[in-house]
Amino acid sequence: MYTDLKLFIDGKWHGTEGRKGEDVVNPATGKVLGKLPHASKSDLDEALGAASKAFPLWKATSAYDRGKILRKAADLLRERAEYVATVQTMEQGKSFTESRMEVLTSADIIDWYAEEGRRAYGRIVPGRVKGIRQLVTQEPVGVVAAFTPWNFPTLTPVRKIAGALAAGCTLIIKASEETPAGCVELVKCFADAGLPAGVLNLVFGVPAEVSEHLIPSPLVKKISFTGSIPVGKHLAALAAKGMKKATMELGGHSPVVVFDDYDAEKAADTIAAFKYRNAGQVCISPTRFYVQEKGYNKFVARFTEYAKNIKLGDGMEKGTTMGPLANPRRLDAMESFVNDAKARGGKIQAGGSRHGNQGFFFEPTVITDVPDDSKIMTEEPFGPVAPIVPFKTFDEVVERANSLPFGLAGYAFTSSGAQAAAIGDAIQSGMVGVNSVMISTPETPFGGIKESGYGSEGGIEGLQAYMNTKFISQG
Ligand code: NAD
Repeated sequence: MYTDLKLFIDGKWHGTEGRKGEDVVNPATGKVLGKLPHASKSDLDEALGAASKAFPLWKATSAYDRGKILRKAADLLRERAEYVATVQTMEQGKSFTESRMEVLTSADIIDWYAEEGRRAYGRIVPGRVKGIRQLVTQEPVGVVAAFTPWNFPTLTPVRKIAGALAAGCTLIIKASEETPAGCVELVKCFADAGLPAGVLNLVFGVPAEVSEHLIPSPLVKKISFTGSIPVGKHLAALAAKGMKKATMELGGHSPVVVFDDYDAEKAADTIAAFKYRNAGQVCISPTRFYVQEKGYNKFVARFTEYAKNIKLGDGMEKGTTMGPLANPRRLDAMESFVNDAKARGGKIQAGGSRHGNQGFFFEPTVITDVPDDSKIMTEEPFGPVAPIVPFKTFDEVVERANSLPFGLAGYAFTSSGAQAAAIGDAIQSGMVGVNSVMISTPETPFGGIKESGYGSEGGIEGLQAYMNTKFISQG
């Protein structure tokens, strides 16, 4: 049932034969799902050579023809959505419903880039001197090295793959070793759609060994990474050594501000559902809840009720609304957040503990009465723990919301148009949802500021990330 895990290099699939590798584990059961091959140094060199050789050909392929292959890949992914969602839930843990949604959204992202690639417009700038024609054009950057984490096995790779391919770049992607099947299935769709050999290569291995081999290679011209801030800083430094373009989509700690003039229970319903999606293992997950005093008690009660009604279980079981955490590291992290909060006077309103004796389950947790300098209020939880605290004034909450070095996403709820505009402007982050949590769509830019990284994926910005601007002055 689970995917036969393989590397994809220069149009050929390679299994474990003679290679090192590792087991992939189902986080709901702790059982081994399959064996993942690691790319050797010569495999990586082969992938570099293949991507480099394929680049001139893919660059010269018209955006119209590239788009046709991309659209076919999107259609194949839709046809295979049930299966891809199943293997993704098996390896990552999220509920099947969420998994299926992720796969279908991934197909939409491919379609978006297939179209947007045809709109990589340049412009003509009037010259200062008669007879001079000044052209601004966009050219694909070249070979891309991309690295993706374990929380969205299909969606995060697709943003990088589709953006790069639509721009005319070739790439080598190292997807997560812990959740590899989503990306293997995705790459199969592109291969079956007729993508020429070498244009897209998929490898796995020891993450540091792979990135330290690929990033410094003179053949690689652009790096795209999604993951934690410490790793992002390390890879950005490696990219800087070669003066290579980089997109860094890193962690956050998204504030949620609920003003008195908004229905506190309505806000709680919306944001609690969003909070526990993928067990909170989402970089734009709402993670610090500031509620204005008048609505505070109502908000806490409703949010807590939501958390207590979540059905924790194997993502493949019918009725499960939250699956396990993806790996045991997250379990340890959740315990450490809860213990620190308790030690600082925090009150556990729901959850607070591991659940069951198999797999990596942690209860949906709500904590109140935590100080602003506690671990849960200052470090990204990346899990199902929600701290809720009260605030008094607009200026005070803006200062608290902006006090951390992160700047990925922020959310606010208010029924005043003026306050909506003011808070949208005031929150320091790459994305802000005001009375809305729809901040991630194929058509809109997705990315952070401050230590949450730089560059955008999605929207027209997501295509430009894989292009160089060139100015031609022609006399
Ligand atoms: P981690 O820092 O060890 O790894 C994060 C990701 O980076 C993983 O996918 C890992 O395989 C990869 N990685 C690690 N070292 C690498 C290297 N030298 N070269 C290339 N890739 C490398 O942490 P983790 O335990 O896997 O995840 C914990 C934290 O990571 C979370 O708390 C969260 O902050 C962050 N994270 C963020 C995202 C995101 O979407 N931005 C996704 C997953 C994890």
